[in-house]
Amino acid sequence: MNRKLFSLTAFMLVAAATGYGGEKQSVVALGAQVIKLAGGFSFTEGPACDAAGNIFFTDIPNNRIHKWSLDGKLSVFRENSGGANGLFFDKTGNLLACEGGGRRLVSINPRGNVEALAEKYRGKPFNSLNDLWIDPKGGIYFTDPRYGSRDNMQQGGEHVYYLTPDRKEIKRVIDDMVRPNGIIGTPDGKILYVTDNGGGKTFVYTINKDGTLSNKKLFAPEGSDGMTIDNQGNVYLTTRGVAVYNKKGEKIEVIKVPEGPANVCFGGKDNSTLFITARTSLYSVRMRVSGAEQQQSITELGFEQDIFQTSAGELKIILIGHGTLMFDFNGKLIHVDPVSREADYTKFTKADLILITHGHGDHLDPKAINILRKEGTKIILTKACAERVAGGIVMQNGDERNVQGLKIEAVPAYNIVNKRSNGMAFHPKGEGNGYVITFGDKRVYVAGDTENIPEMKRLEGIDIVFLPMNLPYTMTPEMAADAAKAFKPKIVYPYHYGQTDPNKLVNLLKDSKDIKVRIRKMR
Ligand SMILES: [Zn+2]
Repeated sequence: MNRKLFSLTAFMLVAAATGYGGEKQSVVALGAQVIKLAGGFSFTEGPACDAAGNIFFTDIPNNRIHKWSLDGKLSVFRENSGGANGLFFDKTGNLLACEGGGRRLVSINPRGNVEALAEKYRGKPFNSLNDLWIDPKGGIYFTDPRYGSRDNMQQGGEHVYYLTPDRKEIKRVIDDMVRPNGIIGTPDGKILYVTDNGGGKTFVYTINKDGTLSNKKLFAPEGSDGMTIDNQGNVYLTTRGVAVYNKKGEKIEVIKVPEGPANVCFGGKDNSTLFITARTSLYSVRMRVSGAEQQQSITELGFEQDIFQTSAGELKIILIGHGTLMFDFNGKLIHVDPVSREADYTKFTKADLILITHGHGDHLDPKAINILRKEGTKIILTKACAERVAGGIVMQNGDERNVQGLKIEAVPAYNIVNKRSNGMAFHPKGEGNGYVITFGDKRVYVAGDTENIPEMKRLEGIDIVFLPMNLPYTMTPEMAADAAKAFKPKIVYPYHYGQTDPNKLVNLLKDSKDIKVRIRKMR
C-alpha cells in the first residue's frame, strides 16, 4: 500500500472509530489528541510504568534510561544503560531491562543497583535482548533478535526465551521466527502475543503451566516493534502508527503519531494514558480504556469509562451497567444506584457520595451501599429509601442541595402511561428522584426510572443525560426522543434499557443534529 493511501485509510479508521451511537467507539478518549511530551532524543524505546504511574523509557543510542514523572519532569534514571531497549517493572518495583548492547537481562532496584538475571543460554551469549514481559508468577519472557551487524551471533538464530519464576532455568520457547521483537501477555498469564518483526507477522500462543508455549496462531498480518495490551484485551502494535487489534485479531483502529512509534505502554495516575516512544520523542494520549497491567484501576475491572473536560477538571463517567453509574471527578467518587448485581463493590475504592433514585431492587441495594460507605460518605436518597438505609440525606422532588462541593438537584421521576394491571403506576409521582449534578460547567442528569414527564421536558442547560428506556417500566424510544427534543441535552445515553434496542433512539434523533446519542453497555 502506498503511503498516501495508507494515511487516508488510517484517517478513515480513526474517524469511524470516534463516531457516536451504534458506531464503533474509539479507544482514545473523546476529543483527546496525541501530545508531544519531550523531544531531542536519538531513538526512544521501552516505555514502562511504575506503580505510581511514572514512565521510564530508553534512549538506545545515547545509552540512557529516562524517567518522565507524573508532575511532567524529565530526568535521567540511568547512564551507561548497556544499550537498554525494552523495560518492564516487576511487582516489587524493580525495573527490568533488556540490554541490547550488554546482551543481557538485568534488574535495577529503586536505588539503582543492577543485578544480571540472564546473560547466556547453554553457555553462549545472547544476540541482543530486545523486549520482555513478566507473567503473573514472576517468570520472564524475552526476545533476542539481532538488528544491524550479524557478527558474533552464537545462538544459531533469533529466538524467544523464558526465565522461570525461581530464576534458575532459561527455556527457549520459540525457535521458528525470523526476528522476534515485541512481546506482551494477558494479566491472567494465559495468553502471550509475540511479533515476528522479521517475518512481518504477529502470533498468539497459549501459555502452558511450565511457561512453554503451545497453540500458535496468526494474530495479525503485520509485524510490530514494541507492544502493549489494554483492560479490554485489545493489543497495540507499533507499525507506521499504533495499530489496535481486538482480541479476535481484528484491526479496530490506528492511532496516528507524528513520528514512527517504536513502543507503547499505559501509565499515568489512573493508568489511562497511552505513552508512545517514537524516534526522537515521547508522546502521550488520553485513553477511554486503561492498561491491563495495573490492578487498582476501575477500568481494570472491565468497566467502560467516558472522559469529559469541565471547567473544574476532568470528569470520568464509569458505565457500570443497567441503572448503575459512577463518576470520578478529580478523584471524588460518586456512585449512582450501586447494586451488587452489576459490580463487585469490594474491589472499589470507597465512595464520597452515593445517590439513590428509588427503592426497587435494581436501584437500592443496602449491601452495596454498606460496602462503599466510609466515614464521611454522604448518601442522598428518597424518603422511602431512608427507611432501609440509615444516616442518609433525604431529598424530595424539587429540592436542591450542595453536598461534597457539588450542586445536586432532585428532579421528579414517575410514570404517566405505564401502570401495573391494578392501575398503580410502576413508579408513582413523588416517590422517586432523578438527579442533576453540576460538575464545573457541565450539568449531568441521571433521570432514574421515569417517563417523559413535563418536569423533565422543562429542564435547561443539560449537557449529558441518562434516559431509562425499557418497557413496561419506563420509556419507549419514542418517549425518550420526545423528551430529548424538548430539553435538548448535548449527549444522551440510553440506560436501563433492558431488551429495548437503544439504536432506535439513534434513528429517532437523527435529524436533531445537536443531540448525540451514545450507546454503551447499560442493558
Ligand atoms: Zn429500574
